Amino acid sequence: MASYRGLNDLGPLIGKRALVRVDFNVPMDLQTHTITDDTRIRAALPTIRWLIGQSARVILMSHLGRPKGPDPKFSLKPVAEHLATLLERPVAFVGELVGEAVNEAVAKLGPGDVLMLENVRFHPGETKNDPELSRQLASLADVYVDDAFGSAHRAHASVAGVPAFLPSAAGRLMERELTMLGEVLGNPDRPYWAIIGGAKVTDKVALLDRLVAMTDGLVIGGGMANTFLTAEGYDLGVSKVEADAVAKAKTLLQQARDRGITIGLPVDLVVAEAFAPEAAHHVTTPDRVGNQELALDIGPLTVEAIRKWLSTARTVFWNGPMGVFEWEAFSAGTMGVARVLAESTAKVVVGGGDSVAAVAKAGITDRLTHVSTGGGAALEFLEGKTLPGVLALAKSSG
Ligand code: ADP
Ligand code: MG
Repeated sequence: MASYRGLNDLGPLIGKRALVRVDFNVPMDLQTHTITDDTRIRAALPTIRWLIGQSARVILMSHLGRPKGPDPKFSLKPVAEHLATLLERPVAFVGELVGEAVNEAVAKLGPGDVLMLENVRFHPGETKNDPELSRQLASLADVYVDDAFGSAHRAHASVAGVPAFLPSAAGRLMERELTMLGEVLGNPDRPYWAIIGGAKVTDKVALLDRLVAMTDGLVIGGGMANTFLTAEGYDLGVSKVEADAVAKAKTLLQQARDRGITIGLPVDLVVAEAFAPEAAHHVTTPDRVGNQELALDIGPLTVEAIRKWLSTARTVFWNGPMGVFEWEAFSAGTMGVARVLAESTAKVVVGGGDSVAAVAKAGITDRLTHVSTGGGAALEFLEGKTLPGVLALAKSSG
């Protein structure tokens, strides 16, 4: 992979203006304008604090939600206020992205001061990667820092455009994500196991292709296991099975056998009478699913099998819940796997929006090696795709 600069490569920053792209796309209660989870803001603090410590003038920009244009519901003002609380220092806010008001706000910044710009998605040029917008943004600053790993898969102006106009570097979070995910992508300590679950095979074909080709063992759980078990000849009743992906599952199973790696499929399942949180349910084996039943979680024997399979692993990558973990009755498999991983001595990396939520629900985030803030960006990176945001940083460093 082409290399990029880190913060330390930017040279002395005293008094310099640093334009920093962060991913402050936090979940918000749109009625009360309160932030319901500030993980993404906290994740960017090391970079922001470091820049303040260097006496840079810090200009932050981010997207929030998917507004179709300027929309007060998606203003970053409450986020700027919350950031001020976390930093224990003032954070100025300007309700524009570029233009006269922004120029004035930037001119007022002293060394170590922090300014937050308005939602980049309020400007039509952002998602179009409009070079004119990138140029205007770049004109606000002396250097650019990208700490928005969660947006690195987007070819948008604030991510992929600005680095062409300014000396650019990856922030601390960006660097950590690329290092940790880069290890499981390219150079994992072996045995290397992956646990893949979640809703659908078709969402994750590229990821599965890659993992089947490079892991020493692969566990399949969650909704996608239904399709794999069907490929193995089981009748899963009315479980969600992707008919158009059964052939793909067969190919993947064959590839795994050809490489001599273990593919771990569920040996027991929690089946329910309906797709509902309170549905009657029980544990059974894949060969005994009733024709009116559907599988909504892996069973306890499967969790124990996973513990055994992973006992010698030195690296584990996990993406995708093992069941409908949002519902108490079908969360035991996912929580069980989370416990197995918390107790494991292997290097454990977790990626994917719902997977990260599951790990947080299990309360084990701090016991794992790396829990990616990247969501979709992490999955695209692990599929081996070049992320536009990372490419732009590499190009900018020559
Ligand atoms: P991630 O965001 O971590 O990549 P996915 O989006 O692929 O994960 O999958 C998460 C979703 O899969 C969850 O909403 C969960 O309820 C659902 N899911 C998991 N197992 C099943 C199942 N057996 N049947 C239906 N849905 C499932
Ligand atoms: Mg998801």
